[in-house]
Amino acid sequence: MPEGLRSPTVFTPKTISEAITNKLKNPDARFWAGGTYIMSRPNFYPNPNQRDIIALSGIQDLSRIYHADRYLEAGAMVTIQQLITMGSFVFSKELYNAITSIGSSVIRNQATIGGSLCTSDMRFTMSCVLATLNAQAEIRMVSKSAAARWIPVSKLYDRKGNFLYADNALLTKIRIPTDPTSQNMFISRTLDSPMNNPTESVIFSLQYTISQGNLTSPVMCITLPGSCFYMSQDFDNLLSTVNFPVTPDKTAKIAKRLASDLRLSVRQNSSMLQIERAVRLLENVLNEINISYLEG
Ligand SMILES: Cc1cc2nc3c(=O)[nH]c(=O)nc-3n(C[C@H](O)[C@H](O)[C@H](O)COP(=O)(O)OP(=O)(O)OC[C@H]3O[C@@H](n4cnc5c(N)ncnc54)[C@H](O)[C@@H]3O)c2cc1C
Repeated sequence: MPEGLRSPTVFTPKTISEAITNKLKNPDARFWAGGTYIMSRPNFYPNPNQRDIIALSGIQDLSRIYHADRYLEAGAMVTIQQLITMGSFVFSKELYNAITSIGSSVIRNQATIGGSLCTSDMRFTMSCVLATLNAQAEIRMVSKSAAARWIPVSKLYDRKGNFLYADNALLTKIRIPTDPTSQNMFISRTLDSPMNNPTESVIFSLQYTISQGNLTSPVMCITLPGSCFYMSQDFDNLLSTVNFPVTPDKTAKIAKRLASDLRLSVRQNSSMLQIERAVRLLENVLNEINISYLEG
């Protein structure tokens, strides 16, 4: 080990309560899930200010996964690969493809659901996809009562993509709706690698139904990994005024509104090119839906 470095203390809780107690007593220690994001940060090693570690891998309750009638419930330590394997029976092809697009098989075997949702400053595919699907997350607050709360994934972040509970809560499980009777359609697209090229990458998800030629109950999320997590009830309301076949004027109006919303939402470091890509992505998706509507 290079001179001046110390090994971090590693806590190995066996229960969720123990992990919360470890965090309460050692506020600077960080929860460690798969470690893929933590270890990929610049200056992770060697670093004289190594933070202590609360390893979550020994907590069995966090690794459970099961499918109930209307949802799939997965603990925070379920890996992305385990979610894909279980989800292959219940997810739509689009959802399956969206999750399978994350990283490489090595990363998917190591990275966890909790880690992908709880990175403090970067928003990756899982946040965007699960927020659009109205998935719920259970979190335990880092407090003496360790109170559990269910929160929609969409409410875990601010518009700039910051995780609102960083260091204040442990994410314990998620529920993804899988109601087989639902008519909901889901589309997800990712441009560029969110990890390798966060300043150009765009992640897009849309859930909707079409009823009598109207885009009904749309829920859209656009993520610019390093600078924005965009979901807006107002914008979803605007989308719900789309009738198919959609006119070029309507598409242009929606695109203009999205561009102006995104300009107001992003962190200062984001490029206009990235916003432009997000807008074009939405136009393309509307076009795709239009074509499949016309094809019947
Ligand atoms: C080479 C590479 C390629 C990648 N490609 C993609 C890609 O194409 N698409 C994509 O979406 N992502 C990609 N990623 C990002 C990847 O999704 C994340 O690194 C991964 O999901 C993080 O999960 P983890 O379990 O390793 O988390 P960790 O690195 O262990 O933790 C990440 C953060 O979450 C916190 N945390 C972890 N679990 C919890 C919990 N239960 N409660 C509260 N806080 C918690 C930790 O304290 C830490 O701050 C890539 C990463 C790498 C290294």
